Amino acid sequence: MSTQRIAALEGRITDVMRHVAAEEGVKEQEVVDLLVSGKVAIPANPGHKSLLPRGVGGPFTVKVNANIGTSLACNDPELELKKLEAAISAGADAVMDLSTGGDMDDLRREVVRRSPVPVGTVPLYDAAVRSYEAKGDPTLVTADDMIDAVRRHAEDGVDFVTVHCGVTRSAVEKVRKTGRVTRIVSRGGSMLASWMERENRENPLYERYDELMEILREHDVTISLGDGLRPGCLADATDPAQIEELVVLGELTQRAWDAGVQVIVEGPGHVPLHQIQTNVILQKRMCHGAPFYILGPLVTDVGAGYDHITGAIGGAIAGMAGADFLCYVTPAEHLSLPNEDDVRKGVMASKIAAHAVDISRGNKAAWERDLAMSKCRASLDWEGQIENALDPVQVRERLGQKTQLNGECTMCDKLCAMKVFS
Ligand code: SF4
Repeated sequence: MSTQRIAALEGRITDVMRHVAAEEGVKEQEVVDLLVSGKVAIPANPGHKSLLPRGVGGPFTVKVNANIGTSLACNDPELELKKLEAAISAGADAVMDLSTGGDMDDLRREVVRRSPVPVGTVPLYDAAVRSYEAKGDPTLVTADDMIDAVRRHAEDGVDFVTVHCGVTRSAVEKVRKTGRVTRIVSRGGSMLASWMERENRENPLYERYDELMEILREHDVTISLGDGLRPGCLADATDPAQIEELVVLGELTQRAWDAGVQVIVEGPGHVPLHQIQTNVILQKRMCHGAPFYILGPLVTDVGAGYDHITGAIGGAIAGMAGADFLCYVTPAEHLSLPNEDDVRKGVMASKIAAHAVDISRGNKAAWERDLAMSKCRASLDWEGQIENALDPVQVRERLGQKTQLNGECTMCDKLCAMKVFS
């Protein structure tokens, strides 16, 4: 089985590349060149039959991912499928099924079957839950269990997988030595660190990286190199453990490319505003320009209940600095499993951040949309405003509260500036 990267290296233009070129308004050859350079990835497992491919990175528009999935405490697959629908209708460009409860295989396959956008997973969660159910401890997995989970997800048509290959023993030692406030906040990272300390062995996902590459290449699954040691609070941001992992991710990026596998690199986490640009520059430099998939970042630790906003602020700054792919954060972050409304709010917050970044990068379509909206505002064209809004449903709902859909709104009423100075 070939991959989009291998096809590009051979100079072949695939239907997937053609689709992305049309979506992004660039030439097909440019997509080929970007794939060869590794600056973009197109997660598109041929086993994902309902997929409309999206490109991530380079000059492409900034993309937004929404996480869904059951937990051991909240296992309602129907709710997760409703959350999938909510994420897609709000404009998510990708979804990650992070399920850790119930029949995870069944739900993952259903998400892949229904999703028109790329689907990502974290196979390590799957292995950890099986270990918990069988042995009462999520860390009692074997190295084979971890690799098998990646293989099963790849066979199910998943387009990208987060694998925490850069969590090495040396980096975990730095977490211990430097006395981090929130230690390790990544579930995959904490599990692997605990496993390595108990087994007194190196991370098998690092040691068996070549084997992983063979599986991913066979199914053209993009590797999303997980940041298992991302900072979980501002005090831990940009610390030695995070940076050591990033250096390893740079090495692994090149090895994946050499194996014909597409790469996305994940990043923090909780980062104060003034450190975000530095984090993006470091990631791009260490990882040779690979697409940067940033998890927020949250710019303060005290926004609980509103972390879709703290994450969107961080996402906008990171995007300005060169990040390519924003993982949404919902108002439920740090507090509970998100519901449908949380998903919608999280996607919208990140979509606004992504759109603002596209504007700042001079994206023509983004500028045209804002101009169209402004003209509709000036002419009190409410239907036009609904059409151009990032969230037409929200705009229509609010307008429904005013008495009429022509003329001024209830804000200024007869003092409507658009009418007073027409
Ligand atoms: S009434 Fe005020 S807020 Fe409403 S459309 Fe006119 S100027 Fe805008």
